[in-house]
Amino acid sequence: MPNPKAPIQIYPTFSWQDIDTVLLDMDGTLLDKYFDDYFWEHFVPEVFAMANNLTPEQARSTLLGRYQQVESTLQWTDLDYWSEQLGLDIPELKCRIDHLIQVHPYVIDFLSFINSLGKEVHLVTNAHSKTLAIKLRKTSIGPYFSRIICAEEVGEAKEQPVFWTKLEKMLGFSKERTLLADDTAKVLHSARQYGMAHLIYVARPSSRKSISYSPDFPSISYFNELIFS
Ligand SMILES: [Mg+2]
Repeated sequence: MPNPKAPIQIYPTFSWQDIDTVLLDMDGTLLDKYFDDYFWEHFVPEVFAMANNLTPEQARSTLLGRYQQVESTLQWTDLDYWSEQLGLDIPELKCRIDHLIQVHPYVIDFLSFINSLGKEVHLVTNAHSKTLAIKLRKTSIGPYFSRIICAEEVGEAKEQPVFWTKLEKMLGFSKERTLLADDTAKVLHSARQYGMAHLIYVARPSSRKSISYSPDFPSISYFNELIFS
């Protein structure tokens, strides 16, 4: 049953002629967020429960609380921080379930398409460099990008408007002619505050969750919706 109160889709209306640079988020945008959700919400609590003599439910509620405390910060994505905080080897645990790392449908078609249009394409992620390395090893998306930028390099999380000012200095794009696609509304709001002209919300970050459109930004469920001339 569709939820009658759910936002309806705002369709993207930009023209590729008006875009020189494309900035793409990784987790949830290009890759299935199911991996990250399962890892943090189920797998880590199970391992943490065993290591600390807790029930999985106790471990889960403790950990979800701790995650929330650092939401939207660079600490949240810092694997070394979590390895130390939880007394677990977080990168090694990620590798144990790396078969769940999947590229979303139509992403490769889209990356080939914008490469063929001659756009400057960058991957811009809050993910930690160790997460990035695991994900690039498991997928074939790396070669489609001119630059791959981790937020730790910029020194801010993408949720902070100053992130985009610093990124512009690093990459030298024009914000009027740049398109950003991301599955985190807070990130799009921070980019809008900075003045990024073209913003796209990815409404289906996880293959296991239903589509949820943004009330504020043009949305897509799959990247084939941006393959047009
Ligand atoms: Mg994301």
